[in-house]
Amino acid sequence: MSERPRQQGSTQTFDVLIVGGGIVGLTLASELAGSDFSVAVVERQPPRPVSDTPECRVSAINRFAITQYRQCGVWQHPLAERAGAFEKMTVWDHQGAGQIHFDSAELGLPALGVIIENNVLVQMLFDAVAKADNISLLCPEEITQINYPVDDSDLPSVSLASGDAISAQLLVGADGVNSRVREAAMIERSRKSYQQQALVCNVTTRESHENTAWQCFLPSGPLAFLPMFNGESSIVWSLDNALAEEKMALSEEAFMVDLAEAFEYRLGEIETVSQRFLFPLTHGHARDYVKPRLALIGDAAHNIHPLAGQGANLGIADAAALAEVIKQARAKGRDWSAVHSLKKYQRQRKGANQLMELSMTGFKELFGNDNALLAEIRNAGLSLVDHLPALKYRMIKQALEG
Ligand SMILES: Cc1cc2nc3c(=O)[nH]c(=O)nc-3n(C[C@H](O)[C@H](O)[C@H](O)COP(=O)(O)OP(=O)(O)OC[C@H]3O[C@@H](n4cnc5c(N)ncnc54)[C@H](O)[C@@H]3O)c2cc1C
Repeated sequence: MSERPRQQGSTQTFDVLIVGGGIVGLTLASELAGSDFSVAVVERQPPRPVSDTPECRVSAINRFAITQYRQCGVWQHPLAERAGAFEKMTVWDHQGAGQIHFDSAELGLPALGVIIENNVLVQMLFDAVAKADNISLLCPEEITQINYPVDDSDLPSVSLASGDAISAQLLVGADGVNSRVREAAMIERSRKSYQQQALVCNVTTRESHENTAWQCFLPSGPLAFLPMFNGESSIVWSLDNALAEEKMALSEEAFMVDLAEAFEYRLGEIETVSQRFLFPLTHGHARDYVKPRLALIGDAAHNIHPLAGQGANLGIADAAALAEVIKQARAKGRDWSAVHSLKKYQRQRKGANQLMELSMTGFKELFGNDNALLAEIRNAGLSLVDHLPALKYRMIKQALEG
């Protein structure tokens, strides 16, 4: 969908050009909706249709993100009903008795966060952004070439599959892990495979999920049961590559028994299962988030293991920080897309994102090891933290508020 009539072969100039209209790119657009920035968003795929049967790709979205969405008018969408609030979280180690439990009531909060299907959130963001007069949503549209100038007095520009071109004061790469924007700006990025895949599917269980996010650390990797709005649970099961393929090859009946056993029947038997999908698990970080007239946000800048459901939350926080930094710089009459202005965004976000990446890798290593001594230490650690409310709630606050 294009909100503005365009002529074939024309070049338009915008203040901000966002490449990628996934969760993070659209979040930045929603933060800039109604501002005095002219914004273009280029996204190759329209949102996947929302149907009565929930999709398997879901995200646990934290309180910080929900607050941002409320402020931008995104959460006022009727589809927000499909965001299932979770009030509790239980995490335990399969190899021992260690367990930790978080309850929103103890924090004086109505919920710890929500579980929402990715296509539902994208549709809500898309609709909010499409209403804004200062935003041109070019979708479906594809970037075919990116010209990132050597001299920062020239503006970056992109060529589109339609034959048009766009130049902008600020080019934002929100185009995911394999970001072409990052490549065009020659920003290096570390990349490491966990040699694991996430198996995702939706299930119904004999017993209620009790609006609780459940996570069990198995020697093969973490297994999460995330409570959905309709009573189903969304499964994210991280498994070594060969094991993931084995689970995919199981019949539905055999898989349901295998999954219930791995989950120690905490929610009873698995009664139905949807189609299963695999996603390769990697982590990586861009050396720089900004260059003159360019910024990277979301997975284009960093991606992490999904074991704590934080990837999209970090990207949403990036988008909010970048929007705030450029708005403030412009209000003060500064060159808002110059690298010295954009560095404020990098300072605010890079350390926090690196810390999360390190913690996820540390957790994966700690819990993915079946050494008996290590198992004893981590079980003792889980139980200890569970009995130290101050520490426990500092940890959860960090995850909830970014
Ligand atoms: C199994 C799994 C479970 C997860 N669970 C959670 C969770 O519970 N909570 C959480 O916070 N995070 C979670 N994550 C992480 C989260 O999904 C990602 O961090 C997040 O989706 C990244 O969003 P993004 O917008 O940065 O990138 P993407 O979602 O990759 O979006 C990039 C967009 O750019 C578009 N694009 C790319 N190139 C071009 C081009 N040349 N022209 C036009 N458009 C282009 C693509 O079509 C795409 O829409 C999970 C990840 C996995 C793998």
